[in-house]
Amino acid sequence: MRKFKTESKKLLDLMINSIYTNREIFLRELISNASDAVDKLNFKGLTDSSVQVDQDSLAIRLSVDPEARTLTVSDNGIGMTADELERNLGTIAHSGSQEFKSENAEHQGNTLDIIGQFGVGFYSAFMVAKKVRVVSRAFGEDVAHVWESDGLEGYTISEGERETHGTDVILTLRDNLPGEQGEPGESFETYLTEWGLKDLVRRYSNYVRYPIQMLVTKSRPKPEPAKDDEQPSSSQTTDAQGDSSAEHGTASASDSEGKADASDVAHAADASSHAPEYEEYEELETLNSMTPIWKKRSSEVEDEEYAEFYKSTFHDWEAPARTISFHAEGTLEYDALLFIPGKAPFDLYSREYEKGLALYSSNVMIMEKCADLLPDHFNFVRGIVDSADVSLNISRETLQQDRQLRAIASRIEKKIGSELAEMRDKDREAYETFFENFGRGLKFGIYSSYGMKASELADLLLFWSARENRMVTLDEYARSMPAGQTAIYFAAGDDRTRLSKMPVVRSVLSRGYDVLLCTADVDEFTLQAMRVYEAKGLPKVFEDETARAAAETAVADGAEPELEDRSIEFKNVASGDIDLASEDEKKTAEEATRAHKDLFQAMKEALDGKVERVSVSARLVDAPAAITTEGPVSLEMEKVMARGPE
Ligand code: ADP
Ligand code: MG
Repeated sequence: MRKFKTESKKLLDLMINSIYTNREIFLRELISNASDAVDKLNFKGLTDSSVQVDQDSLAIRLSVDPEARTLTVSDNGIGMTADELERNLGTIAHSGSQEFKSENAEHQGNTLDIIGQFGVGFYSAFMVAKKVRVVSRAFGEDVAHVWESDGLEGYTISEGERETHGTDVILTLRDNLPGEQGEPGESFETYLTEWGLKDLVRRYSNYVRYPIQMLVTKSRPKPEPAKDDEQPSSSQTTDAQGDSSAEHGTASASDSEGKADASDVAHAADASSHAPEYEEYEELETLNSMTPIWKKRSSEVEDEEYAEFYKSTFHDWEAPARTISFHAEGTLEYDALLFIPGKAPFDLYSREYEKGLALYSSNVMIMEKCADLLPDHFNFVRGIVDSADVSLNISRETLQQDRQLRAIASRIEKKIGSELAEMRDKDREAYETFFENFGRGLKFGIYSSYGMKASELADLLLFWSARENRMVTLDEYARSMPAGQTAIYFAAGDDRTRLSKMPVVRSVLSRGYDVLLCTADVDEFTLQAMRVYEAKGLPKVFEDETARAAAETAVADGAEPELEDRSIEFKNVASGDIDLASEDEKKTAEEATRAHKDLFQAMKEALDGKVERVSVSARLVDAPAAITTEGPVSLEMEKVMARGPE
């Protein structure tokens, strides 16, 4: 007996003991593992000429034995060696395992979270099974191995037999649980029934690319014995209607058992013949639709189906905030299905987070996370790109040089941008939630590109408006600027309430100018990197009185108002160089400073080198004094810089 690794053990205990309501996802997990294994073999066959794979035979098979209470998920994929059984099933394979270990204490009571966040994969089998037996033969090996465990302490690995490469995962289902105090108990019988399994496959695994097959029992009219004077008629070769397995080139395993019950038959086929007898027979049926969901037009797919696909493929608990499906035709053809998650994954801002889209070439997965398909600032997007034009043999190194891939990536970037813009304009509430989750990445995109990305991303940003008390776009800010305002004012700090009380903020607001309150550490860096906001199509400002009067008359006469683009500078209200005071106000302040020179000198000395200068300000509204900085670097930014990079 080999023991499970500690973290695996903890997760297993949770799995087994939780009364998790969504146990049924175990089948999805096992099927997805089977599909991955078939994928790996398929890929090998397509890229390695020494490996022969019969594409049409690739399949996943479900079978049940109600007497023994077993459910088996089989695949003819790549299989596992004894070493791989040990490595893959003895420890949690998920990247989340480390986090799981450290956060385990907090999560103890909340299984739902763990399952939702990490996806529990293979171990989910123990939610419904008291024993799991895995018989696997790796492709290219002669012997098979058996991994077996009751999920409690450990597992055993021994030699076994299997006719061909592939894996059988055999679950012995748990005993039914009695209900407590009138509550309904829990029965695992569903997972032994045809309808139960069909239902689960359709709900969770419909788009798996390989046929998920099961022998199902059907009935049909028994062929009548042929009469001597008749040619063998078509009625003798009656075949099941809608034999879906035939479409996939798989042999139909119909063998009659002749258990027809004549009393079921209430009608006669025609007046001259006897009522036909019915017989039961078994047939291999494909339960899933198999057409990849990304190949379908979005009009043909229900939101619900997209959501289910997203959740099961990307192990998310929540439905996506937005689904983007598009199909490029022409010189470069591909299908793309992208999702904007409903909330940020727990590790999004950690170093471990890997961005990327799954890359397929004609239904074969080439890479699970192709990073080159997504710019960093859209790293939260999940999805799939399928293009027959991408070579199967493409390697990580050549990806960046691949022109087609670069063309796809650039189109994807534009598409995500335009979808986000649409969301911002048509569903502001959802967009604000989106921005709360992922806005930091967008800002960072501008900052880390030294402002180069501002033309695409600036309009996707939201900031808190001190005047409006809500999130505004820069465009909204610019449009609400009163005549005479020439800059976009912002204040940066940790706390919005505190910022809104800053004397300088109040001073700017008192002049009718809005102030953006920036509380994210990246905000100020982003605005610095942008330097200006390129506002588009603002009502034209006329310096000249006569010109303005003429324009107003023209508009009154029905002409379109003249518009102009304007570069508007960002200004930190806390930096010394903002200058809103009138000449008169400034003069008064300067005079006062001179008149009280000695007092200010004394104050400076009392502050003992902590300040550069003390003077009268023309900027204060209702506060007696304010500390400001000189130059473009604000106090807040100095603080962030002193903290060092994260
Ligand atoms: P994940 O699928 O996220 O890697 P799982 O816990 O579901 O995590 O599976 C762990 C590992 O076990 C897989 O990565 C794979 O290497 C291996 N595995 C599981 N099922 C099969 C299978 N049917 N055939 C081959 N390998 C498998
Ligand atoms: Mg898995």
